[in-house]
Amino acid sequence: MHNFHDAQELTEALRPENPVLLKRPHAARRAARYFIRQFPGKSLYAVKANPAPELLQLLFDEGVTHFDVASIDEVRLVARVLPEAVQCFMHPIKSEAVIREAYHQHGVRVFALDSLEELEKIRRATDEASDLTLCVRIKVPSEFAQISLAAKFGIEADDSVELLQCTRQTADALGICFHVGSQTMTPLAYVHALERVRTAIVNASVTVDIVDVGGGFPSIYPDMVPTSLNHYFHAIDRTFEDLPISYSAELWCEPGRALAAEYNSLVVKVEQRRDNELYINDGAYGTLFDAAHIGWRFPVRMLGENAIAAADTEFGFYGPTCDDMDHMPGPFVLPGTVAAGDYIEIGMLGAYGAAMRTKFNGFGSLDEYEVADEPMASAYVGDNLDLADRQNVVSFPTG
Ligand SMILES: *Cc1c(COP(=O)(O)O)cnc(C)c1O
Repeated sequence: MHNFHDAQELTEALRPENPVLLKRPHAARRAARYFIRQFPGKSLYAVKANPAPELLQLLFDEGVTHFDVASIDEVRLVARVLPEAVQCFMHPIKSEAVIREAYHQHGVRVFALDSLEELEKIRRATDEASDLTLCVRIKVPSEFAQISLAAKFGIEADDSVELLQCTRQTADALGICFHVGSQTMTPLAYVHALERVRTAIVNASVTVDIVDVGGGFPSIYPDMVPTSLNHYFHAIDRTFEDLPISYSAELWCEPGRALAAEYNSLVVKVEQRRDNELYINDGAYGTLFDAAHIGWRFPVRMLGENAIAAADTEFGFYGPTCDDMDHMPGPFVLPGTVAAGDYIEIGMLGAYGAAMRTKFNGFGSLDEYEVADEPMASAYVGDNLDLADRQNVVSFPTG
């Protein structure tokens, strides 16, 4: 049961001193159902986007049975919360001790890698197991994504022949995976990446059992409204079907942001106003890491009596810590009358929001409540969900 209908009702009832994280289970359920029904393959939830146990549980309840984990703590968490779930260890660089624990104690059988050294580690740590699914991560450009994931991991498709062939000899099932970068604004990114997969498969002449297109599926933020996710799925499906792989090969994806973004919003209190800077009680070391460090613009709305006033003024936010870097430039557009003591709701913080919190400087306490209203934006309703167009993608946006 939800605790309040929405942020407005909550602030009137509680006048909260701490920041409040609002949870919208119905929104996360809707996102999960959508991926389960519409993605033409298997959807793994990327746990790093938001590891809240109740979120993991409700995704699982809606049919997300596979989880993309990257650290031993994530493995232990998923094993504890969802012992029935299938875990896929998609971080390409792991310690041998971690692989050993994941394999022998938690039943993990799926591992990513991007080097021969990692392949050797996996062989040793699993005592030369014969039941492994190994996914070779190839490098793809992040040119269409808001957040690059191109530099750190992955082997160039052109250099992957030996690694693919050696991995094929070790693996029971061989996969190829990649990540186009987070908040990818066009389906074309996946088409280009899948063309690199084609090159890798052709050059290595190996049988591939799984193609994993990774994460990167976008949510909706101010000035970042992507085309319907159906267009992404259709473009992926079409390109995948055309790859030189066996009829039984599986298609996987690893959404983090797209499954989690609508799950949380945040209610903050304005402690002070100086010109057009608002000093609020959460920030860069709390839920607003991306707003500070990469200038991400989250949607905002005024609560309280001022809620009906026109949002016509641009503000920046300062967080509560004593660090100058605790600054969120925005701009965040709110009524010009906003003042100390007011409350603001900041939306779309379910992915890479609550997950990033620290206790730095003695801040970081947070209250949590469930609400029933809609998230500030949704990729899964109305115009953003172009179901009719699924079979008829005629052009791709290039922006
Ligand atoms: C972070 C990550 C994801 C999730 O990415 P989103 O952009 O949140 O969808 C998926 N797979 C891997 C390997 C990742 O590192």
